[in-house]
Amino acid sequence: PLTSREFHPENTLIEVGGHVIGGDEPTIMAGPCSIESLENIIEIAEAVKKAGGHVLRGGAFKPRSSPYSFQGHGEEGLKMMALAREKTGLPIISEVMEPEKVALVAEYVDILQIGARNMQNYPLLREVGKSGKPVMLKRGLSATIEEWLMSAEYVLAQDNPNVMLCERGIRTYETATRNTLDLNAVPVVQHLSHLPVIVDPSHGVGKSQYVNAMARAGIAAGATGVIVEIHPDPAKAWSDAAQTIDFDQFNQMVDDVNRIAAAV
Ligand code: PEP
Ligand code: MN
Repeated sequence: PLTSREFHPENTLIEVGGHVIGGDEPTIMAGPCSIESLENIIEIAEAVKKAGGHVLRGGAFKPRSSPYSFQGHGEEGLKMMALAREKTGLPIISEVMEPEKVALVAEYVDILQIGARNMQNYPLLREVGKSGKPVMLKRGLSATIEEWLMSAEYVLAQDNPNVMLCERGIRTYETATRNTLDLNAVPVVQHLSHLPVIVDPSHGVGKSQYVNAMARAGIAAGATGVIVEIHPDPAKAWSDAAQTIDFDQFNQMVDDVNRIAAAV
């Protein structure tokens, strides 16, 4: 397979906005779960930039568990993200949920995010493959590593080599945390594949007080970067408030991640 180390022994490097994902410096992606307003996303983008982050995240098309929850601002949200990029120079990542929307989302973002719920949406994977844009493929809620890599294969098979994998926690019997961040997956995937691995401790653990510990653990396990949900007032975040960290906690996490990356 195209994703395998046997086929491609060297690590894949993906350049976005002057930063190399998979290179020596750990990649920090951060932002709100959902884009809320222009003022809010600009305030957050400035905090990401100031802390030394590399990519701004934000959801415009949201895969909410309930159809009655806020579904995201859609294209309006992407416009806000694009303005935040103009203001800070940070490249942006946002989720696309439908094949029909890939062209639209790709017009705005630097990295297309495939969410956990869509890891096996094969028409969507083919479409992001054809877009030629960098793709971050999140692991499905109950997907094996083999299934996850096969989904990445769909994108690579469309001649798009710029795929990064994101471990975002899997479903286990444990209920004390939202999911269980599968740290095993980090070295296993790096052994099997040349694609960069990012960890998402926010969704992986689901509670803000544990996010820093699991970000550090992911980097210690060898992940090339982290993606986290941040907000100036996490309790007021429109989605995923419980797992969202504030700017002080984020600054601390960036310091910790950089120190650990220098040691591994
Ligand atoms: C998200 O990144 O906000 C998200 C919905 O993540 P996941 O697809 O991993 O649940
Ligand atoms: Mn979220």
